[in-house]
Amino acid sequence: MAAPYNHKQCQSLFGYSFDVHIRSGATCQLCGCGGESLTFDLWRQMTVEHIIGKSQGGYLKEIRLAVAECFPNLSASARESLSKEIDAINTVTACSFCNSTTSRDSSSTSMSDLIRNSTGDPNQVLKKISSALKPILDRKRSDVAWKLESVRKAYEENFLSALNPSEHAAG
Ligand SMILES: [Zn+2]
Repeated sequence: MAAPYNHKQCQSLFGYSFDVHIRSGATCQLCGCGGESLTFDLWRQMTVEHIIGKSQGGYLKEIRLAVAECFPNLSASARESLSKEIDAINTVTACSFCNSTTSRDSSSTSMSDLIRNSTGDPNQVLKKISSALKPILDRKRSDVAWKLESVRKAYEENFLSALNPSEHAAG
């Protein structure tokens, strides 16, 4: 008999995203699915959403570069922990629908600009970045809500009737 599968090889759930989903309360931060009604089948479809995406320097690698450039006076370990905290406030849980439906979203600010324009000590920097991220997340949330309204309607009217034609026959 084969040895049990090592769940740690499932990087999409037990790597980087494990902590993101814990922080987000296993709730999609864009549509709100999950949370109290979390199921295993929903959890395994969850992904990490970068509020500011890769194309705008929102990944940890680019965050580290911008932090190194803007905070040369911090120690290497202080820069690393600031970078990781910025990365943490820039990452939330999103279900696969919300992640793919917002993947072309592009905000007007890049992460490196945000870091460059945030002065003060690391706590003040985090606070400023956090308040700059909020409207971006809010915009993604309303975009998802707008799309879901039509998608839900088409699910009920088109998909379900194609799936079960007899139950939806006119009569
Ligand atoms: Zn969602």
